Amino acid sequence: MIELRNVSKTYPNGTKGLDQINLKIEPGEFVAIVGLSGAGKSTLLRSMNRLHDISEGDIRIDGKSITQASGKPLRMIRRDIGMIFQSFNLVKRSSVLRNVLAGRVGYHSTLRTLFGRFPEADVELAFQALERVNIVEKAYARADQLSGGQQQRVAIARVLAQEAKIILADEPVASLDPLTTKQVMDDLKRINVELGITTIVNLHFIDLARSYATRIIGLRAGQVVFDGPVSEATDER
Ligand code: ADP
Ligand code: ADP
Repeated sequence: MIELRNVSKTYPNGTKGLDQINLKIEPGEFVAIVGLSGAGKSTLLRSMNRLHDISEGDIRIDGKSITQASGKPLRMIRRDIGMIFQSFNLVKRSSVLRNVLAGRVGYHSTLRTLFGRFPEADVELAFQALERVNIVEKAYARADQLSGGQQQRVAIARVLAQEAKIILADEPVASLDPLTTKQVMDDLKRINVELGITTIVNLHFIDLARSYATRIIGLRAGQVVFDGPVSEATDER
């Protein structure tokens, strides 16, 4: 379970990104975070993985405070959390397989991964992950030779290889065309249903949230202004 208690985030320039957020997200949920640009969606996701520190409150992942943790305990919590970004964040000049293997880095010593050779069991996991998102034939292609939709599926495969229990996806389809958007959202949904991975997705469009999520959280000015099942979500953005 993910639990946020009175979470606020004020940026160094004084901008309030999040303002007293309280949330509980159960294992296996597919949650869409919606809201206009600047509402705090990205700040919320980045806080959950502690890509930045929050100013107030506490965030617990399966009972462990990510707010307080550091060193190895922090790395252990983060191992369970896979991130997906609008810009894919792949190593462009590396192979697809190597990019997916990067999901295994948290399972080995830094020294081992420095040399870039992973155990065969990891390679096996990486191939299984690529199969799950139907892109295994691209394993040896360079990441930057793939289309945007294919690159996002590689990013999903990386999270699968990581064996993450939680996926945080920050506007994962914002730079994709409608057909590719559907493919990527279908992949995320399938993984959520088949593997039970808790999925939290920032989305710009309410109709996408309605089609895929089971719960919608609406943000405005860093505050939760709506939280409920899809059936209760109105037409307002
Ligand atoms: P969203 O993802 O919904 O578009 P953000 O979380 O990016 O919203 O932004 C929430 C608020 O925080 C906005 O007012 C934005 O301008 C501000 N903000 C985001 N990142 C920073 C930053 N690094 N420094 C200062 N203000 C920021
Ligand atoms: P290189 O020696 O140039 O790193 P190889 O010829 O051994 O590459 O393998 C080609 C590609 O296969 C690599 O770029 C990498 O994507 C992948 N690969 C295969 N097995 C492994 C492994 N055990 N660890 C890391 N990458 C691997």
